[in-house]
Amino acid sequence: MKCDNCTKKMYDFRLAVHLLQWVEAINSVECNKKQKNGDGQNAPVDVLSSNEENAEPSEFHKLANSKIFLSDCLACDSCVTSDEAARVFQQNQKEFFHVLNLNKKCDTSKHKVLAVSICPQSLPYFAAKFNLCVTEAAKRLCGFLKCLGVHYVFDTTIAADFSILESQKEFVQRYRNQNQEEHALPMFASACPGWIQYAERVLSSLVTPHICTAKSPQQIMGSLIKGYFARQQNLSSDKIFHIIVAPCYDKKLEALREDVYAPLYHSQDVDCVLTSGEVFQVMEQRKVSLKEAAEVPFDTLFGGINESDLMRHDGRRSDGYLEHIFKHAAKELFDTEVKELTYKVLKNKDFQEVTLEKGGETVLRFAAAYGFRNIQNMVLKLKKGKCSYHFVEVLACPGGCLNGKGQAQTEDGKPDKALLKQMEEVYAAVPVQLPETNGHVQKLYQEWLEGMDSVKVQQSLHTKYSSEKPVANSLDIKW
Ligand code: SF4
Repeated sequence: MKCDNCTKKMYDFRLAVHLLQWVEAINSVECNKKQKNGDGQNAPVDVLSSNEENAEPSEFHKLANSKIFLSDCLACDSCVTSDEAARVFQQNQKEFFHVLNLNKKCDTSKHKVLAVSICPQSLPYFAAKFNLCVTEAAKRLCGFLKCLGVHYVFDTTIAADFSILESQKEFVQRYRNQNQEEHALPMFASACPGWIQYAERVLSSLVTPHICTAKSPQQIMGSLIKGYFARQQNLSSDKIFHIIVAPCYDKKLEALREDVYAPLYHSQDVDCVLTSGEVFQVMEQRKVSLKEAAEVPFDTLFGGINESDLMRHDGRRSDGYLEHIFKHAAKELFDTEVKELTYKVLKNKDFQEVTLEKGGETVLRFAAAYGFRNIQNMVLKLKKGKCSYHFVEVLACPGGCLNGKGQAQTEDGKPDKALLKQMEEVYAAVPVQLPETNGHVQKLYQEWLEGMDSVKVQQSLHTKYSSEKPVANSLDIKW
């Protein structure tokens, strides 16, 4: 449901997008002319031939090109400038193939090392689409991408490990300081870019001091690749083209954040985000089934390959911030070991709470608020001073990240419930690993970050939120 302001601006935004596509189309015609007049030596290789680039798109492709999902109103046009819109729409398969093609030309000054990082919530999409388990889908996806010319393929679970560990630490600090710091609690999760965009640009200072400062897994993966990995490989960060494969379009917008930009090299930590659906379109265009691709293990940030099976975090279809922070806080603050969490469903299945009682008193009250309506309710409570939660895991998509609009849609843009159910099943079958037990993370805290509480930890794993003036008084909208 959208307010008048959003609807009008959505129209303006879509118009801008269509204009952009039109300009892009003209540019690509000019480009093709130049290629025809060339001597052939520098003609693009057959990764995606110009014929394929101009081929009649499939129905799904047309839909993906003409629709702005951005989790509906959460990070809609009222939050997005025309410059950002242009840069969001540059992040597509064409950009990916442009880099692949440059790598096959003689001019080595334009070559880039291509690194692709895959979100764990994207893998169940490929597993469900091709009837595979998640580990096999991951290996075959890695094989497919390497066959196209990608140099390194990583799993972003390691970045989520850092994000969860830093969030846990910050929650305990905020809880202990709640009597001294006005905005210490509730703490809101910071992993979902749709929510962050909405909080910064619409809700502003009402909410931003409450958002956990730990960077999202995508932002941390960006720091790892353009910081740690680039140094390991003796590369400047602009020599790496870093792509994230993600379940939603909102992450394209997140890639543009100013705090993940290295001015020295004019380089973003993430250069391009492709949704799972966009990668699937590449397979369709090339008439490749993932089942035919070779099984290739993911790479590690230390230069080797990761032979072990894929692991996931505990949690409700996302990275499980609520579970991890709850268990950690119960142990740290109340010396209580919590094995299983018992959720109480509130207004609907996307608004649930978990509590810890001690001596007849509720000492921890956490909530999961997924989807716009539940977020609105939670924000209204905060505005009225009636938000009794210590922590809220906020996600823009009802049902969480598996339901991201870059993968859980039918060809006519409706939620694909059957596919989502399949994704949930294959995701649940992936073994769970605690972030604390990841040896690579401990090694990186020492080698890369100079300790657990260093200045570098603050610089590389934490961020600040802007509190621009709200562009619309959305709290007064009746939803
Ligand atoms: S809930 Fe997950 S998939 Fe949906 S917008 Fe947020 S990060 Fe993206």
